[in-house]
Amino acid sequence: MRTGQERGFYYSRVGNPTVAVVEQRLAALDGGVAAVGVSSGMTAIAYTLLALAKGSKGNIIAPSSIYGATEELLNGFLPDYGIETRFVTDRSNPETYEELIDDETKAVYIECISNPNVEIYDIDAITEAAHRHGVPLLVDNTIATPYLLRPFEHGADINVCSATKAISGHGNVIGGFIVEKGGFSYDERKFPFLHRKQYIFRDENNQGRSPVDLFPYAPLGVPIRASFLAGLGGQLSPFDAYLIQNGLDTIAERLDKETANARKLVAYLKGSGHVGKVNYATDADSPFHDVAARLLPLGAGGLLSLEFKGDADQFAALVASLNVFSYHTDIGDVRSLITNVPDTSHVELDPKHLEKASIPRNLVRISTGLERAEDLIADLEHGFKAAFNENE
Ligand SMILES: *Cc1c(COP(=O)(O)O)cnc(C)c1O
Repeated sequence: MRTGQERGFYYSRVGNPTVAVVEQRLAALDGGVAAVGVSSGMTAIAYTLLALAKGSKGNIIAPSSIYGATEELLNGFLPDYGIETRFVTDRSNPETYEELIDDETKAVYIECISNPNVEIYDIDAITEAAHRHGVPLLVDNTIATPYLLRPFEHGADINVCSATKAISGHGNVIGGFIVEKGGFSYDERKFPFLHRKQYIFRDENNQGRSPVDLFPYAPLGVPIRASFLAGLGGQLSPFDAYLIQNGLDTIAERLDKETANARKLVAYLKGSGHVGKVNYATDADSPFHDVAARLLPLGAGGLLSLEFKGDADQFAALVASLNVFSYHTDIGDVRSLITNVPDTSHVELDPKHLEKASIPRNLVRISTGLERAEDLIADLEHGFKAAFNENE
């Protein structure tokens, strides 16, 4: 037995055969070359950003409306490690991302479909802007999943996703993946950690090698395993990998049905007097419609959000009277879920950040499941009547 001379698995914190099967499937679905399974979507995002910035700190460019825990990571956690985020408020304009890039920028980060406002941007144009400056485009494709959108076909370099949501689909697992497209050239000055020679990667003459020496085409996964999983933990459990694999088998059927249900709910909600703006990217009235029509030929999935015209007590009355929807902070489940965004999924955001993220106090997020659309509509109808004291 000699270090680095044999292929295989030796300790499940850094690699496991059951996890590897699902990693390979995720890489194949995305059209990437390699994937690392981790313990949650947040682990995937955090480890990727830390690996890109390790050894040199720097900044990240990101839109101002993203998932709550990611916002907290970028705004509250990473700055103490010397990694700042520059937030773009004109989020669909590629030029505004490019203007913020400088020599210390490690990544442009976007959500392919954003949570909770269901925004979608011109990924091809944002990629071009990032690449002009030698910066990789890192995307969070949790909501669309590779079934609805394959970001590597639009130039993205790394996909970090939560497998907790539509990828597994049953709300019974927490997991995440980091998938590399392969082929991005990481500059040595900007990404010193990927070029650092380490004894752990030694060759047969005991000479240290760097991640780029080992896997020049896709070096990021190497230190994520060897440094982050090995040193911090956060690996995907083999049993969770097995559950994710079971969920993946039905991803097409689930997302088609959830998309069809979302479309019907959007049509119903737009005609309801109890709802203001409805956000759904492929809807004809969405400002993101044209980009969505190009990037999402199969539809936008099951996530939508709406401005509820009642107060907090009325929302509580609505939720209390629902029989088909469950009140949960999750999304991408086979069950339809509803939640009040500023109090749950985006509880981290103070009023100033809610405003920057275009999240009004009365924003309600819905994630459609596999029930009949008629039952979902009847459930909401019944809930609105209870909330607004209208007799049935
Ligand atoms: C849920 C979510 C995450 C975090 O995933 P976890 O598996 O819960 O850690 C990241 N990004 C988006 C868009 C999400 O919806």
